[in-house]
Amino acid sequence: MTELELAPPGPGEALVRLHAAGVCHSDLNAIDGTAPTRCPAVLGHEGAGVVEQVGAGVTLAPGTPVVLSWLPACGRCEQCVRDLPHLCAIAWEGMHSGGLLDGQPRLSRSGDPIYHYCFLSSFAERAVVPARCCVPIAGGVPFEIAALVGCAVTTGTGAVWRTAAVRPGERVCVIGCGGVGMSAVLGAAAVGADPIVAVDLSDEKLAAALSLGATHAVRWAGGAEETAERVRAASGGGVDYAFEATGRTEAGLAAFLATRARGAAVLIGIPAAGAVLELPAQQIPRLERRVLGSVYGSAKPERDFPALLALYARGRLPLDRLVARRLPLDAAEEAFDILRDGAALRVVLEMN
Ligand SMILES: [Zn+2]
Ligand SMILES: [Zn+2]
Repeated sequence: MTELELAPPGPGEALVRLHAAGVCHSDLNAIDGTAPTRCPAVLGHEGAGVVEQVGAGVTLAPGTPVVLSWLPACGRCEQCVRDLPHLCAIAWEGMHSGGLLDGQPRLSRSGDPIYHYCFLSSFAERAVVPARCCVPIAGGVPFEIAALVGCAVTTGTGAVWRTAAVRPGERVCVIGCGGVGMSAVLGAAAVGADPIVAVDLSDEKLAAALSLGATHAVRWAGGAEETAERVRAASGGGVDYAFEATGRTEAGLAAFLATRARGAAVLIGIPAAGAVLELPAQQIPRLERRVLGSVYGSAKPERDFPALLALYARGRLPLDRLVARRLPLDAAEEAFDILRDGAALRVVLEMN
């Protein structure tokens, strides 16, 4: 572990003592260079902890347990006014600066700037974040569960509930059963989608998906067409919503081909910059097949985080089953190795 300097919270900011942080594929994309990230940076964008100190104008009381959202919507830009806070132009632009909302980092080492990742940098003992990132945790939900709600769970369940608005009895498949895909499986099961076809390369992940509510498992093999054909067979002729959670264009094509008439491929995974998804064009009008994009589950953290935590607390959404391993913060490298190896379910870093 490395010691860094952290500036005190400025106006509209909060200092949070972190207790748990989930390790997400996007962090790995930042390390591997798949997603350009301003460096040097402290990674981590799933986190939960306790507010220690707040800056001017912040009403959050020190001592409040919070889950962190990585999208502090401004509430005033065109997208926010359209009631699409997850697409907030200001927050998305600010994220790329590697600073907080003023573009400046609060982290440094011997006077040199160290950048933030998605406003949070939760692989740390403490973080200074925009106060709008902090959503209070009610009902004593464990920090490790709350941390996952901050990204994977909201992204996966939100794609099902908010972006697609899946109804009971609608047919669903989920391609890519990592933290987001598994959350989509949980979300689909919770609203009574049927069947729910899980698709992955890994038998271990498919077994985990079945245990979380998937009704069928299809192993990815032989390319998009062949895999889609097996999904169509397993689902009785194609699905209403095919969720793609890998970011690979092959998987996006499979999602499209797995739908039935009027069905939609819901693309969640972020493809590499410049990637092009080629689709059989005629089927779009002829079968009214659709493609929907989904980012952060089309969510409103202030509304959706408490709802997810309450569903968990009442035993109606088994989010604890997403946690496979718990490691101390200084074992972050090991956590990334586990993720690279394609292990099923989530690794959570714990800060004492
Ligand atoms: Zn994430
Ligand atoms: Zn905005």
